[in-house]
Amino acid sequence: MSPFVIAPPPQPSAPVAGGGLFPVRRIFCVGQNYAEHAREMGGDPQRNPPFFFTKPADSLVTSGADAPYPSLTKNLHHEIELVVALASGGVNMAPENARALIFGYAAGIDLTRRDLQAEAKKAGRPWDMAKGFDGSAPLGLIRPAGACGEVGKGRIALSVNGSPRQQGDLADMIWSVSEIIAILSTHVALAPGDLIFSGTPAGVGPVEAGDFLNGEIEGVGEVTTRIV
Ligand code: MN
Repeated sequence: MSPFVIAPPPQPSAPVAGGGLFPVRRIFCVGQNYAEHAREMGGDPQRNPPFFFTKPADSLVTSGADAPYPSLTKNLHHEIELVVALASGGVNMAPENARALIFGYAAGIDLTRRDLQAEAKKAGRPWDMAKGFDGSAPLGLIRPAGACGEVGKGRIALSVNGSPRQQGDLADMIWSVSEIIAILSTHVALAPGDLIFSGTPAGVGPVEAGDFLNGEIEGVGEVTTRIV
């Protein structure tokens, strides 16, 4: 007999290229990790330590499913990002040991209620409801690291209804994947099933209901969703 007093919620997961499901524990996100995007957000692209926020694991939208236009916003923005999936964890990792934790990579979209984020920034309040709403994390297939290209350089881009919106190169990340894992592991204990959204290049902008988003990352794969 189950010890749970209600039925346990489902285990969030994401499909893997080639088959199987990656079970998701936590979703971490890095803010302003490309200089041009930091500038477009009014930030300073200096190499200040990266900052982190989170999304709930069950905010994922996978397999090209539709993403609902969320409540309480009039300015929903797309942010295409390289997502890292961890097969193992650790604390206080050295950057040179960080790659060994990685199961694979995916293209993801950090959907953002930009108006609520701006209000939160202004008031010194948390970003949770600007970043962690239901359906806020569309994710493409997770490709095992061995099947990916040399992740660390390569085109990262997003189009809306076929029109280019964001374009950058992974080589322009201020903090590399290894550095992000190492620094994040000083904040929290990383564990198998963790996903890390590693920041977005310049060109973020609004989407409307009906828009079709197509993101792609060279050597990793793509992510698609329709806002409904
Ligand atoms: Mn982001």
